[in-house]
Amino acid sequence: MWFICDPFGIALGTLTWVMVIFADWVVCRHVIDVWFATDVPRFDWLPYTDAGATLFAFYQLTIALSFISHLRAVTTDPGTISQHSPPDNFSPIKQCKLCRDSWKPPRAHHCKTCRRCIFRMDHHCPWINNCVGQANQKFFILFLGYTSTAAVVTLILLACSAASWLWNQPSLSEAPLPGTASVICGGLVSVECIAVVLFVSDFLQEQIESITQNSTLVETYQRSHGTRSSFTNHFKAIFGASWLWWPVPCTSCMPPDYTEPAIPDEPDYAYGGSGQQLDDSDQLGIAGGETEASAQWSPEGIRPRRPGAEAGGESRQRHTGRGSPE
Ligand SMILES: [Zn+2]
Ligand SMILES: [Zn+2]
Repeated sequence: MWFICDPFGIALGTLTWVMVIFADWVVCRHVIDVWFATDVPRFDWLPYTDAGATLFAFYQLTIALSFISHLRAVTTDPGTISQHSPPDNFSPIKQCKLCRDSWKPPRAHHCKTCRRCIFRMDHHCPWINNCVGQANQKFFILFLGYTSTAAVVTLILLACSAASWLWNQPSLSEAPLPGTASVICGGLVSVECIAVVLFVSDFLQEQIESITQNSTLVETYQRSHGTRSSFTNHFKAIFGASWLWWPVPCTSCMPPDYTEPAIPDEPDYAYGGSGQQLDDSDQLGIAGGETEASAQWSPEGIRPRRPGAEAGGESRQRHTGRGSPE
């Protein structure tokens, strides 16, 4: 099973679940229990009215889908390069010095935390203790979607609960104070959910932008993108061709196309800048350009290009294994 042993990532991933479980407990204990408890439930094991049971089932399903999506995002290999040699006549060829000089496809980046090259690496996310790459981007987006849905539903339920309490008081001046525990818990969860909605909606917006432009976060900083076609095609590369599997946290992405080029953005694209690449390697958690080298592919292995050697000046043949440098 894929798992990154990074204490910071493990701590944030765990914190995510402590917060979700706490919000779930508060909603069930202080909202659903209070509003929908009945002595004559349809099912003995679910002591709520039909409306309460439906709300409870919907809420738990959203939380469960969020949990499974998070678990899959944490434990799925985000995009280790499985092909160590480039196809015949492929150019330009780069190799990663940190990955024992393996071939580095144009859209791959070396993650410092995962310690390997990840295809279509978006960023290393400590909240999932993993990189976001092509193979787990669907799980990451589903996690964001289900978590924000659960947070919005929680906020609505807490707001309705507070409004209902106020409505049922004969007069505000004579109203008894609600239980301290319910006020503290409701307040904490409200703050938590507002933070989640703001934080997650920002991430979701970035992910939608990433799909629209076929450009990962790392590539956005490096002013490049993959081959652009329609939004639907970009979406299907991550979510798969069949719409039935899109909302389900199961693997359905397209196989990686390691030969897809990283195309430089137009000079005036989006940022109105000069087209110059920014050096944000540290901020993005990737190993910078000095750790890769352009190379000529040969049967003996992959070699750094000699100074002055022209691209394509030597014949390239398929390499059958991981090469060793000269
Ligand atoms: Zn690498
Ligand atoms: Zn990583």
